[in-house]
Amino acid sequence: MTILAVAAECAPFAKIGGLADVVAALAKEWRALGHDVRIVLPKYGCIDCQRWQIEPTRLTISVPMGWWQEYARIWRGELPGTDVPVYFLESRDYFDRPGIYGEHEGYADNDRRFLFLSRAAFELAPAVDAVPDIIHAHDWHTAWTMAFLKTHYRHHPHFTRAAGVFTIHNIAYQGISDPQYILPLAGFPLDGFAGSWLEHSGAVNAMKIGIMFADKITTVSPTYAREIRWTSAGMGMQHYLNIRGADFLGILNGADYTEWDPARDLFIAANYSIETLTDKELNKRALLEESVPPHERAIEIPILGMVSRLTAQKGIELLLGCMEQFVRTGRVRFAILGSGEQRYEHALHVLGRRYPTRVLVYTGYNAGLSHHVIASSDYLLVPSLFEPCGLTQIYALRYGTVPIVRATGGLADTVEDYNPTTGTGTGFTFREYSVAAFAATIERALRYYRDPVHWDRLRRNGMEQDFSARKSAQRYLEVFRWALEKIGRTV
Ligand code: ADP
Repeated sequence: MTILAVAAECAPFAKIGGLADVVAALAKEWRALGHDVRIVLPKYGCIDCQRWQIEPTRLTISVPMGWWQEYARIWRGELPGTDVPVYFLESRDYFDRPGIYGEHEGYADNDRRFLFLSRAAFELAPAVDAVPDIIHAHDWHTAWTMAFLKTHYRHHPHFTRAAGVFTIHNIAYQGISDPQYILPLAGFPLDGFAGSWLEHSGAVNAMKIGIMFADKITTVSPTYAREIRWTSAGMGMQHYLNIRGADFLGILNGADYTEWDPARDLFIAANYSIETLTDKELNKRALLEESVPPHERAIEIPILGMVSRLTAQKGIELLLGCMEQFVRTGRVRFAILGSGEQRYEHALHVLGRRYPTRVLVYTGYNAGLSHHVIASSDYLLVPSLFEPCGLTQIYALRYGTVPIVRATGGLADTVEDYNPTTGTGTGFTFREYSVAAFAATIERALRYYRDPVHWDRLRRNGMEQDFSARKSAQRYLEVFRWALEKIGRTV
């Protein structure tokens, strides 16, 4: 199959969250399974072209935007460790900025920037001789591709045999814009807009466009699929997901275990595996040596780690609500790596200054440190308000770091509450979104820390889990075949 993936993020070039990891991991796996995979990304100002050997090609494409043609020069690189081509769209107007989405509220023209990306993918494919079977779009940013495939490019010789698959990584971000502004740019008339597949509550809603125009829709875990279809977690999209119910399913994200493997990880202080689990402690020692003065480095104090975007979604309120009660007693240490909303960064730094040896706070985005924190911690906290899939808990399991999670979305699908009677389970879960429930679960989890039998069982159970990207890549291929069947093709 020829798969054209169009996305706003792809690791390691441009990453804010899990979307980037998943786009890269799936492409890698499909390629290994023998498919022709191409990725289309913006060439953001923050992409390190030298480091990733991304070079300009001779190609420039013209992209219709409203009455005008706009232009993008194509740069080309490869996904590291593979021969998967990644095409980068150079546009001074749209992408040559330091950020991917912009701070806080995002850039004011994000709708137009990503409309351009979505449209450009269709001009790019013929220019690089790609005749896709599948156009795979991710989140609202590239949702317009699903509409273009069924309208403007429906009879284009390169796309008549292509099906569209739309993957929802987070339904909370929907890409809402003013119809008067965006419809002319997208080449759709204002007449007939009301009540159309483009409209939701009077505005253009990219998420709805993806849902309505795609041949198949997926999201990143089975539980999240149920939540967004049947509960308010769907954030207004429930009705549309119900209309498309027969074409909608959840596929659990997978981890790229070549990158996230404690036995081979180059970012951590000491490698270890299930056979050499005692060596995990060397990482904890290293973290303490880096961050805490010698007389404060008691290794037996458990470290509760967290690696997260700092947004309300991630349950930072719950974390802040109970951190102090735990550190005050001196029984635990926190190691938090996060970046995002200023109010959270500030609150964490305040605690970090108050308890400099017990609350280790690292702000900013740091890929190496994310591995180090996960390997060095005893527990990993993921108290999310909602979580489409979540990757850090999947990484933590492989690293023998016990996850404490709120049982929502993908967290519910990947972490099983520990049962001391049967010795089954991989972590600790709670349901109610409250500080009290979270704190009680941390308490419950801490009980097993000093019990060698349970502690060993728990960690081994986790390390034996297999949430590999290979599995999810195969599930996607199945969905791609169904999508092709839907448009009357068999592959
Ligand atoms: P989301 O996509 O909602 O941010 P996920 O758990 O699916 O959540 O993915 C988050 C990804 O981003 C993980 O790979 C995690 O390690 C990484 N990450 C989050 N915050 C940081 C940070 N400050 N520095 C480095 N990596 C981070």
